[in-house]
Amino acid sequence: MSRFWSPLVKQLTPYVAGEQARLPDLVKLNTNENPYGPAPEVLAAIAHANADDLRLYPDPAASALRRVIAAHHGVQADQVFVGNGSDEVLAHAFHALFQHGLPVLMPDVSYSFYPVYCRLYGIPHELVPLKADFCLDVQDYARPAGQVGGVVLANPNAPTGIALPLADIEALLRLHPDRVVLVDEAYVDFGGESAASLIARHPHLLVVQTLSKSRGLAGLRVGYALGSVELIEGLARVKDSFNSYPLDRLAQAGAVASFGADAYFRQTCARVMQSRERLSAGLRELGFQVLPSAANFVFATHPGQDAGELAQRLRAQAILVRHFKLPRIDQFLRISVGTDAECGRLLGALNTITRSS
Ligand SMILES: *Cc1c(COP(=O)(O)O)cnc(C)c1O
Repeated sequence: MSRFWSPLVKQLTPYVAGEQARLPDLVKLNTNENPYGPAPEVLAAIAHANADDLRLYPDPAASALRRVIAAHHGVQADQVFVGNGSDEVLAHAFHALFQHGLPVLMPDVSYSFYPVYCRLYGIPHELVPLKADFCLDVQDYARPAGQVGGVVLANPNAPTGIALPLADIEALLRLHPDRVVLVDEAYVDFGGESAASLIARHPHLLVVQTLSKSRGLAGLRVGYALGSVELIEGLARVKDSFNSYPLDRLAQAGAVASFGADAYFRQTCARVMQSRERLSAGLRELGFQVLPSAANFVFATHPGQDAGELAQRLRAQAILVRHFKLPRIDQFLRISVGTDAECGRLLGALNTITRSS
């Protein structure tokens, strides 16, 4: 606390990101990074940068990148907004589209950044509980007209990994035709169904994706939104009132190259999905209950082991997984899918721990 802080800052509860530890022989399965990293073409594009690429300001509209993303998703470039990671895109979306003085609906178990943006921008929110099996029932989002400021959810959900069928997204869109429904698809490339195909028919749908997970570019900080021209214009108005150049020249060049390397993208996603199924099976053999995941992580609980203690004991062996001390999920571990060798080390360590207690 400082007397120099504005009153708002005193009330903030910032998001706590997963640990970026530097340990020898680290098995880092705590922040859902991609074990295979970006396509070689991305590194080549960044390496080809010249002095002008850093001397001059970047394209504030990131036009080349937006054209490439638009072509990838079959939309127009003016239906694409890009930002410094999808976290920034989400923040601008909350700011531009959810500030109506009415509660934004979101699942009680979801990306814990959503309530943080609400507090930052003074947006009321209402947590809508998922069912006991962590599935989402769209009917729980029905409200009388004029009582909702918007809806936000992650699909596949984080940290559960559970995917919602597109028919349910459409039902949500029909429930709230006059408010924005934001679908955060950070993990969609690992087996989910993208709502991007619904944009043409639903001007109130905003789909947010990132290059951090499926394209192995968490360090480059590129995320984007797809939606109707009017929604994208709203986001651009906030961005241009905040920072004209959120994406530097290297990030724009690397991101364009990533969309050009389609075979690498599909192969590495497929490898992660195969490893996910092997990891899930291995965990079940050790007595874990594992939720069905369509993401690059699994969410698992063991009936005979405290999840917090398990995370600590793994950490002592330089294996990092994520444990959230939050209601309903404090007995679960979120484990990112690494290479098969990394998953093997995790399963070996868990085998020893669960047998010895
Ligand atoms: C990782 C993640 C993001 C943020 O991704 P960045 O593009 O790296 O900012 C957004 N939403 C969810 C649900 C995530 O898990």
